[in-house]
Amino acid sequence: MEVEEQVLAWNTLQNFINGQFVPAKDGETLDNIYPATSQVAGTIPRSKSQDVEVAVSSAKDALHLGPWGKTSVNERADLLEAIAQEIEDNFELFAYLESRDTGKPLSLTRRVDIPRAISNFRFFAGAVRHSRDDFHPMSDAFNYTLRRPVGVVGLITPWNLPLYLLSWKVAPALAMGNTIVAKPSELTPSTATLLADVISRVGVPQGVFQLVHGLGAEVGQAIVEHPDISAISFTGGTVTGKRVAATAAPQFKKLSLELGGKNPNIIFADCDFEKAVEGTMRASFTNQGQVCLCGSRVLVQREIFDAFTEAIVEKTKALVLGDPMDPQTEVGALVSVDHLEKVKGYVELAKEEGGDVLCGGERPEMPGVFADGAFLLPTIISGLTPQCRTVQEEIFGPVITLHPFDTVEEALEIANGVRYGLAASVWTQDLQKAHRVSAALETGMVWVNTWLHRDLRVPFGGLKDSGVGREGGAYSLSFFSEARNICIHMGEHWNNIGS
Ligand code: NAP
Repeated sequence: MEVEEQVLAWNTLQNFINGQFVPAKDGETLDNIYPATSQVAGTIPRSKSQDVEVAVSSAKDALHLGPWGKTSVNERADLLEAIAQEIEDNFELFAYLESRDTGKPLSLTRRVDIPRAISNFRFFAGAVRHSRDDFHPMSDAFNYTLRRPVGVVGLITPWNLPLYLLSWKVAPALAMGNTIVAKPSELTPSTATLLADVISRVGVPQGVFQLVHGLGAEVGQAIVEHPDISAISFTGGTVTGKRVAATAAPQFKKLSLELGGKNPNIIFADCDFEKAVEGTMRASFTNQGQVCLCGSRVLVQREIFDAFTEAIVEKTKALVLGDPMDPQTEVGALVSVDHLEKVKGYVELAKEEGGDVLCGGERPEMPGVFADGAFLLPTIISGLTPQCRTVQEEIFGPVITLHPFDTVEEALEIANGVRYGLAASVWTQDLQKAHRVSAALETGMVWVNTWLHRDLRVPFGGLKDSGVGREGGAYSLSFFSEARNICIHMGEHWNNIGS
């Protein structure tokens, strides 16, 4: 069967609970919309707390009664590698489904989303195989640390990088022996369902991985509230994150919150101009600006402000927007018409706040089936003060604002002058300046002369309203495990040299 036909067959999606694909208990469904056309591509279950209840109970049984609790680290690592291989073997189907749910270009899902999901599983297979635990000797005793699974964990993910972010949580959670109840965004349910299919085929025992589709307020909230879920790993917006924290914290659940950003992209006059322009284009418009790490506030030193503005406006106007499935397309649709309206609302707000729209800002006229698609021309706005709402609030679309600055101090004041603190980019050829600025930025991550350059071992996460906790490498393995110290009394001087 051609991949396009296979994609069409993935239309009536189901939950995956206790090793079975099942509908919501009450049979209710939600439409799954292809945002590039606004047409219905299929349905998903509109699950409720009763479905979450069954999923949690299956996950508990799998944790305590099934074979999962007896698997070795190497057996779990082998399963992660088998999952990676199955995704690779079904690469095109994953890539098409991701593009259909999100409206992002197929070229992007082929280049970024699906390869990263594969490497997430391979990476955590290797990481857990090679992980080491602590040993602390004393003069009369020694301590060693056992890492136990946290238990049943709840994984809640957003729509912008659906499989990429889900696999980033599923892989370390499985590696450490937990069982899972996951909820993807209801806007992007397909690759998560295909992942459940893959997980069932490679031999992960039933009940280890549950997928419950539905609305955040119904399914997500029920997962966060459930007393038998011991940890919540949440990636999404700051407002939702606050709500998740308010529900989970009084139950003393382990909590990882990866939230929104309003990231500064700081261009010094001594940068490599061409590289900074190219990096700014990627940081501004990758995935239609719907990446939490996008550099939506572009700070440019005054000497090069006009030349830099001219260069990025010209390149932005030349971006190819269109059919997400066309390999030439660089800019696809936003995730939904509702989200498009929100983003356009910010362009209107920017005008009211005195901004000058240098390009974009409009919904383009699209041909044929794409006429009602959620498309927005990539947008550049200048002339806004750093304090206004457009520059303070996360827009999460293909919209950037430009801000001139004179000194390092002024750049830092603007960069740090928001409630968010996720990531920043700095473009300069002065190494000392790069170090000083990086140390002074209030963000969890700083890229110098690059953007979104990721090593899966390094800490990933934000400060301030951008979240709590870190993911990545040993940080993820630590989050998805409980450290238990065991102290063995040995008697005086048991480990003295020569004794
Ligand atoms: P969102 O509205 O906060 O939703 C995130 C997830 O939470 C979705 O699955 C959503 O379900 C669910 N949810 C909604 N209400 C809930 C509740 N009361 N309890 C539990 N779960 C609930 O975010 P989004 O619009 O999907 O994603 C965009 C946001 O994610 C942006 O702010 C972006 O910056 C952030 N993000 C952050 C990172 C990072 O690593 N820091 C990475 C990617 C994205 P429904 O979709 O069904 O409502």
